[in-house]
This record gives sequence, structure tokens and C-alpha cells, in this order.
Amino acid sequence: MPISFTSHGAAGTVTGSKHLIDVERTDGRTFRLLLDCGMFQGEAVRDARHDPNRTFGFEPSSVDVLVMSHAHIDHSGLVPRLVAEGFQGPIFATPATRDLCTIMLADSAHIQETDYEYDVRRARKKGRLAPEDGPLYSTEDVSPAMELFQVIDYAEPTEILPGITLTYTDAGHILGSAAVHLDIDDGERVLRFTFSGDVGRYVDRLLPEPVRFRQADVLVCETTYGDRDHAPVAEAEAELLKHVLDVCVTGRGKLLIPAFSIGKTQEILYTLNTLSNEGRMPRIPVFVDSPLAISATEVVRGHTDLFKAEVREELLKDPDLFSFPGVEFVRTADRSKQLNGVKEPCIIIAASGMMEAGRIRHHLRNSLGDPANAVLAVGFCAPGTLGAQLLDGANEVSIFGDPVQVRARVLRMEFYSAHGDRNELLRWLSCQKPAQLKRIFLVHGVDRGLNGFKELLTSKGYANITIPKRGQRFEL
Ligand SMILES: [Zn+2]
Repeated sequence: MPISFTSHGAAGTVTGSKHLIDVERTDGRTFRLLLDCGMFQGEAVRDARHDPNRTFGFEPSSVDVLVMSHAHIDHSGLVPRLVAEGFQGPIFATPATRDLCTIMLADSAHIQETDYEYDVRRARKKGRLAPEDGPLYSTEDVSPAMELFQVIDYAEPTEILPGITLTYTDAGHILGSAAVHLDIDDGERVLRFTFSGDVGRYVDRLLPEPVRFRQADVLVCETTYGDRDHAPVAEAEAELLKHVLDVCVTGRGKLLIPAFSIGKTQEILYTLNTLSNEGRMPRIPVFVDSPLAISATEVVRGHTDLFKAEVREELLKDPDLFSFPGVEFVRTADRSKQLNGVKEPCIIIAASGMMEAGRIRHHLRNSLGDPANAVLAVGFCAPGTLGAQLLDGANEVSIFGDPVQVRARVLRMEFYSAHGDRNELLRWLSCQKPAQLKRIFLVHGVDRGLNGFKELLTSKGYANITIPKRGQRFEL
């Protein structure tokens, strides 16, 4: 069994991305690589009898290197816990992924701590014992993890273990996101292994399109939208402006935009900035209510070299693409609370995108009851999340344990989805010769996406397609 592959997360689900590769070389040396170390979220946690984030399924100290695809929490969120539990090897990432992880993991640690404190308080109130397990990890666990990061740029083949070379290509998903290409020499043969990470879009955004990559023998591919086409992409400016005019100008309501702090928030600000530069944006206050989004915007400003060429040209005329008259970046909790009292039409952009955490929950609790208001969903909401419930048309939802009536409109805009739909996934794969791909694993999807994409691939001549279960080991 010289080389094997095991998914320990994002297997049959969209979150918790974690894939192990075990290499047994003919000279007797063995290596273990972990691809991503993501957190399970939404129903993957809620419906489980035991929190899947508390058991990796392998011994952290047995892993030699960790290779990151990108900074999203469902791909990076358990890195501090992995290190706290004994992993000591290097963590490879692109420079932007490292920079984003710095702020995201600190933020995630804070969320773990406050969620735990909340659970303790709630238990006490109800006369129950405090939960036995502490937070998943805490703030002190973050910097030891960050110290292990080593950066590798796109398209720079680097030997990360004896006989194992890593090359990143731009996946066009979020800033710094990469597809992972490993050339694994086990002493007998070289296996060309590719992991998609999350595949981005072929639409007109800040970031360039996903790039082509060398032929692989084994491919692990995400399928978030494996059974779906995004609605034809209208011009983002026109669509977003229509919602702003409808809700805020005609309806005099508030437009809440729950958005990932990283990626989506900057894309939306970029669209609003364009509208503002073109004189089309009405004078409405825009609040970016997320300290993480503010820090992330700073990180993005520091990596303008990763923007696509046309956007880099715009920077010559407008050096700040995320700021325009009327926008306020809200850092403090006090100012955030004051926004509850704002009666005038406004736009509030706040995390999290799936509406499971962050300040958006306060704004939703405060605004969902008023039919003048609207929530604009701009990204994927995993099943079971508050975002998914609203998109499914729930009349009542629970926020902070309290029932909240939903009278506000729930709108959706697909332009900002950071995940390619099934046709974009196919386009990303079009650089591959199906006959040369010996094996394909489909991950990072729910049943519909996984099976839908498997059918589609089969119809296009791809073969040997497997949907792995968590912990199932495959020889390559
Ligand atoms: Zn992602």
C-alpha cells in the first residue's frame, strides 16, 4: 500500500475539509500529509451525536506536513487545535492564505471562547452542569500555529518532503486560494495528485479566473454546486443597485447583507464603489459591521497584485476600491449596537455569510420582523444554517434561542458566489484528458451535488469516480 488517500472531513458534506495522504516509500520511509484542516459547521455539527470537531480520526502528531488550499474556516478552522494536540510540522500556504489565516484563526478562537462562555452561562441559568469540554481552542493556541506557516507562491514547485513536490495554482475562489498539485515519488513511480480546494468563478470579479493545471493521475474535486447552474450572471452592478433602490429608496427599509468577511465583503464593496464612482449610488449609509471584515479588507489591500489585470488598472485612478462616500467601517461593539437604533434606510454588511455567527445575527433579530426590510443572501448556506432556513422560506426562526418572526423579504444574488457551478467545475477540469485520470474522488458537497456531478462527469467520459465516506481509506 505505497500511497493511500482518506477523507476525514468534507466527505459527503460541505464542511470540515481534511484529507490525508499516506506514502510508504520503497526505501522504507513513510510520510503523512494532511490537506486542509477545516472545521465542521452547520448541520454537520448540530445533527451529530458527538461534535465531529473534537475528533480528527487520526493522531495529529503523526502528520508530517499540512498543506492548505485556502483560508476559509471550513478549510482552516481546526489548525490551532491540530497544533495544540501535537502536530509540529510545517504548514504550507500561499502568502495571502497565511495573512488571512492570521486574522481568521484569531477571530475563530474568539468565537470558540465566547460560544463556550455562552454555553456555560446558559447551563448555569437552567441549573445544569457546565459543558464538560472546553472551547475547541482558545486565543493562546493561535500564534503557535501561525509560527508553523511557510509560504509558497503560485506556480513554484517546491519539494516539501523527500520525493514529494507541491505546486499551487490559482483557484480563483478567494484571495490566495489554490488548487494543490502533488507529485509523489514513492521510489517506484511518480503519482500526480491534484486537490481542487474550492474552485472559483469565471465571472467578472476582483480576482482572476481559475487557471489551468498539469495532467493529474488522481483528482480530488469539490462539488458544492455539482448539480446546479448559477443563474445567468447579470452585471453585478445592475443587480445590486436594483435591490438597493427597491429596498432602501422605494421601500425605505434596511438592506441586510450577510457576507463572509473575506472575499464577499470586499467584492460587494468593490461593486458599491464602482456604482459610487459612476454616480449611480444613492446617498444611503453603508455600514460594514465586522471587525474581521475590516482587517480582511486591509489584508486584501496588501495583495492587489493578485487582482486581475483590469482591476489593477482601475487602481491607478482610484487607489482604494473598497471605500466611497457614505461607507462606515464599524469596529466597536458599542457602535454596532447603535445601529439597532438607526431608523433610516441603510445597508448593513456583516458576517457571517451563513448567518450562524457574528454581528449579523443581532441585526437579523432586530430587522426580520419588519416587512420593509430585506435580507440579501449572497453566498452558499449549508443545510441547517440560519441562512438556509431563511432561503427555504421559514416564517419563524430561532436567534439566540428566541423565536423571531420573518416578515422581511429574503432576496438572493448569485453573482457573488465564490464557488463555480457545475459548468464552471467542468471548465476547470477541461485541461485534463479524462482517459489519463485514473481516479476521481468527489468531496465537499451534499448528496445532490456529489451525485449530480458524478453523473455529469460520467456523461462527459470521466470514469472511476468515487464519493468517499469519512474515514474510508483508498489505495492509489
Ligand atoms: Zn472556500
